[in-house]
Amino acid sequence: MQLDLAPPDPAAARLVRAERVRAAMRAQGVEALLLSIGADLPWLSGYEAMPLERPTVLVFPSDSQATLVVPQLEAPRVVEDERLFALRSYADGEDAVALVASLVGTRSSLAVSDRCWAMLLLELQRALPQASWRRASEVTARLRAVKDASEIAALVAAGAAADRVAEALLAGEIALIGRSEAEVSAELGVRLRAEGHAKVNFAIVGSGPNAASPHHEPGERRIGRGETVVCDFGGTLHLDGDVGYCSDITRTVVTGEPDDELATLYGVLQEAQSAAVAAVRSGVACEEIDRVGRRIIASAGYGDAFIHRIGHGIGIEEHEDPYLVEGNSALLRSGHAFSVEPGIYLSGRMGARIEDIVVAIAGGALACNTADHALHVVEA
Ligand code: ZN
Ligand code: ZN
Ligand code: ZN
Repeated sequence: MQLDLAPPDPAAARLVRAERVRAAMRAQGVEALLLSIGADLPWLSGYEAMPLERPTVLVFPSDSQATLVVPQLEAPRVVEDERLFALRSYADGEDAVALVASLVGTRSSLAVSDRCWAMLLLELQRALPQASWRRASEVTARLRAVKDASEIAALVAAGAAADRVAEALLAGEIALIGRSEAEVSAELGVRLRAEGHAKVNFAIVGSGPNAASPHHEPGERRIGRGETVVCDFGGTLHLDGDVGYCSDITRTVVTGEPDDELATLYGVLQEAQSAAVAAVRSGVACEEIDRVGRRIIASAGYGDAFIHRIGHGIGIEEHEDPYLVEGNSALLRSGHAFSVEPGIYLSGRMGARIEDIVVAIAGGALACNTADHALHVVEA
């Protein structure tokens, strides 16, 4: 399904996000957001803090201009946008916590980044003894889950880059037989970078019995003939003027003609994955997507072999809201971006998974990945 995308303007998109965040803060009675490390900060400000011991905090009040407090040596990396925040850098030896506390002032209902380090939060709590605290995600998660045009453009670009690596895998351009999983993983990483990713987040390669372990750590095992090889990889890609967005794709190949058992299993998996993607549209419950895929796998007798939820949201983070899992009755909204990744794992023997990133839209799903889903035989 196609979507007409306006030319992405990340800076304009951030101004819209800031207004939405302020409206949500007022509705929830939050007087100031304190954003430290984690994805909320780059999503809102365009600045990604390094996870360092020196505090970085965006003090974002519901009722006035925000201030980004950063260590002086990090300030050159900040792209200022005065419509969004004032920059206040501090020197080594200056008390950053006192500075943040003075910007917070008498506001007492605060929300802090979920990933803020405990050592910073404990100091902030000492400096602001009257304040009550909650997680920033209570304000931001639902907003961040709905991607705007510039974010969808970034996810589409990241998906296309990952697709090119997947297509090389399916075409047999990445040698498998006789190489270790770790070697293949390293090549997937090199190719992700060559296709435009700024960093590689993971490159899982599980061969033979290791294919039955969904998050297998690629190791020294040499890939043999006639084995399934699950390759699940992704990285972070930046479009001009924007922070990075993630790719995440899985394809399973076989290093020789598949036997009947694998051909049957893979057919079931492919049917489940495409039915689940076909069920995606705004207004459908998140858990329904999981149910659609799981029903097909279970009715073929593999119910116990599908041991994880069918998908997770994706954006600046590899895993974020919404989660496509039984029990999540929240409705999909247009702009929700997530994986659809059923797997069938026969413990100690073999496994297979197919994963694509899609974006829910009014009439269905916009596919970020289009690499072929059929079982490819790779005899390289
Ligand atoms: Zn995973
Ligand atoms: Zn994945
Ligand atoms: Zn995934």
